Amino acid sequence: MDVSRGSGVLELGDIRVHILSDGRFALDGGAMFGVVPRMLWQRTDPPDERNRVSLGLNVALVETAGQRILVDTGMGDKWSEPDRAMYRIDRSTTLLDGLRGLGLGPEDIDIVINTHLHFDHAGGNTRLQEDRAVPTFPKARYMVQMGEWEDATRPHERSRASYLEANFVPIAEAKQLAPVQGEVEVAPGVRVVPVGGHTAYHQMVVVEGGGQRLLIPTDLLPTTSHLPLPYIMGYDLFPVGSLEVKRRLLKQAAEEKSWIVFYHDPRTPLARIRQERERYVVSEGGA
Ligand SMILES: [Zn+2]
Repeated sequence: MDVSRGSGVLELGDIRVHILSDGRFALDGGAMFGVVPRMLWQRTDPPDERNRVSLGLNVALVETAGQRILVDTGMGDKWSEPDRAMYRIDRSTTLLDGLRGLGLGPEDIDIVINTHLHFDHAGGNTRLQEDRAVPTFPKARYMVQMGEWEDATRPHERSRASYLEANFVPIAEAKQLAPVQGEVEVAPGVRVVPVGGHTAYHQMVVVEGGGQRLLIPTDLLPTTSHLPLPYIMGYDLFPVGSLEVKRRLLKQAAEEKSWIVFYHDPRTPLARIRQERERYVVSEGGA
């Protein structure tokens, strides 16, 4: 039961987790909170003049058994000026700067887990080299559920705007794609678990060590504002599926005092939760 924190590091036994920021961006508040009226969500997430709410991009770097693993890669840097304005992209901190701060370069990453392939999770997978997108992490295997890969490469009208080929096709071309199917231990103490909901094959990451558990549910539980059960993103393709998985996850996380990474939270990237009557609340924030 030895979890200690300091300078943004979470230790679970021999496993070390850093939370790095790939900056911020903003999305329509209505889309972020689904069926919840603005009158309610604007209390915790005040929108700007274009109805957008501020979002973080909190990327976990997991170090276990000599392997360095990133969970998602943020927005990356391949954005046009109009897109930067539309999504209010703020690159004052970046994932690569965060790695550099730890004395690491892109070649030090062994595994990239993509929880899914939407642009705010896979944007940093690739970078531009003379107008051509190439893998940002030259030695990494990029792990994504096979079903998510198939859906991303054959998008439909509802999903097309979220899947940008430049974020994932170059990974396959460079033979760095390592598709997984179902629940898989990708490194000692690090598992991917399909959860569906947001996309059919969205996966979360579970890290276990030293008797402690860390959950990285990304878009199943994007911010601490999404702790109430009906607060489910309008983007979700299968919102009732999200609800059922979220109900179980919150109950278990509160009972077991698991740490949770809130991938999109602009203020609280890492926290534990507890149950307070019918609600779940943050009991301890960190990093
Ligand atoms: Zn997202």
